[in-house]
Amino acid sequence: MTGSKMTDSLDPGAFRRHAHEVADWIADYFEKVEGFPVRSQAQPGELLAALPSSPPEQPEPMKRILADFRQLIPPGMTHWQHPSFFAFFPANSSPPSVLAEMLTAGMAAQCMLWETSPAANELEARMMEWLRELLGLPHDWKGVIQDSASGATLCAMLAARERARGKTVVDRLAFYTSAEANSSVQKGARIAGFPLDCIRRVATDQRQAMRPGALAKAIEADRAAGLTPAGVVATLGTTGTGAMDPLAEIGAICQRENIYLHVDAAWAGSALMLPECQHLLNGIEHADSFVFNPHKWMFTNFDCSAHFLKNPESLQRSLSINPVYLQNTRDEQITEYRDFGISLGRRFRALKLWFVIRSFGAEGLREKIREHIAWAKELAQTIQNSEDFELVTGPNLALITWRYAPKNRAPKTLDDLNKRLLKAINDDGRLYLTPGAVNGRLVIRFSIGQTRTEARHVRQAWRIIQETASSLQHSS
Ligand code: PLP
Repeated sequence: MTGSKMTDSLDPGAFRRHAHEVADWIADYFEKVEGFPVRSQAQPGELLAALPSSPPEQPEPMKRILADFRQLIPPGMTHWQHPSFFAFFPANSSPPSVLAEMLTAGMAAQCMLWETSPAANELEARMMEWLRELLGLPHDWKGVIQDSASGATLCAMLAARERARGKTVVDRLAFYTSAEANSSVQKGARIAGFPLDCIRRVATDQRQAMRPGALAKAIEADRAAGLTPAGVVATLGTTGTGAMDPLAEIGAICQRENIYLHVDAAWAGSALMLPECQHLLNGIEHADSFVFNPHKWMFTNFDCSAHFLKNPESLQRSLSINPVYLQNTRDEQITEYRDFGISLGRRFRALKLWFVIRSFGAEGLREKIREHIAWAKELAQTIQNSEDFELVTGPNLALITWRYAPKNRAPKTLDDLNKRLLKAINDDGRLYLTPGAVNGRLVIRFSIGQTRTEARHVRQAWRIIQETASSLQHSS
């Protein structure tokens, strides 16, 4: 037995052949993804039953591994790159982004320090400057790429905790977000050690946006009770309905009260590239940090989350540990990103941003996002004009929520009817939608933003929704 045979099962020639085969498969997938049901129709345990229960003792040929991949994996996947994916928010990709990911995987660099990958470090710095300019964020903010908005929000909480420390002990700190904030905010607050009973879910208005008055009152009450308000997370584009918390008013409160303000624009941030959406940033000068996900609505593969900080000092203070094995040459010009996030190891994520931004161009990115917003507006209008459907919220950018509400149905039966409608649509497989709740009522979200979506997919989706609703109505 030779060591190299066992550890390097593909010689360079075989790797090259299979790499071409894989590239062909990906190109075919792009062309044919529409042929798959959007949401996987797999049953629980189906793949498990097809897999051997123990690992192979002997090397297997790549030909067989790839054949098994083709047969077993795509049917067991939900196809996020399908143009009729209207569920959750998109987790997009695009051909330039995939090319960059292939190159990143090939180089397989670990980018924890400038010295371990100087080009990755400096490309990250420049890409964050490009994104800052594209979104119109304050020109002196510093950017870093995180794995996820959840990670960036956790970092914001650590920074807020660090800033408030010294004034009090952690178990006297309070944190504020809206009742509509993403679950990652609650999770981050728990991980950061904020006491569970001091995480305030501030009330929202009729547009599901945080009420600044309610925030001010909660802060006042907490101070009166001897707590120290440490941080606020405001959301631009909530997960449920795309609601926009009023940054200017929330920012003014945080400024006055000296409270850390983080803005979660995980999905909606991409729309800030449009001049007509820039007003949503009013008040950003009062914020301390901001996150948005190019991996959602900027055609860049998961994971890629752009996190901007007014002043990284409190985050760095909170996370910096400097063992001798990491003490490499430092340079004034260089930012060592290892002190900006949770993990020491860092993926080379800037390459896909470089490829995407250059390949689309800023105009190309804006054009796509603008189209998605226009189609959401058109669909909202159609739903509004329809007798049996109710537009519940929006459009907020490219997200609307709606429900089926035929005239002959008692209002209290509508939640159940819409649950059944959603299941029937997703079981059919031609489009994929997910639920939400507005004022305690079940709604169906329609979120447009997939890279390959065209107007015809949105119109076809509406026809399928109507047909499915009508057959449900006749069968019950
Ligand atoms: N914030 C908002 C508003 C979201 O909608 C989401 C996910 O959809 C997140 C945060 C979490 O994003 P991530 O998966 O990058 O942690």
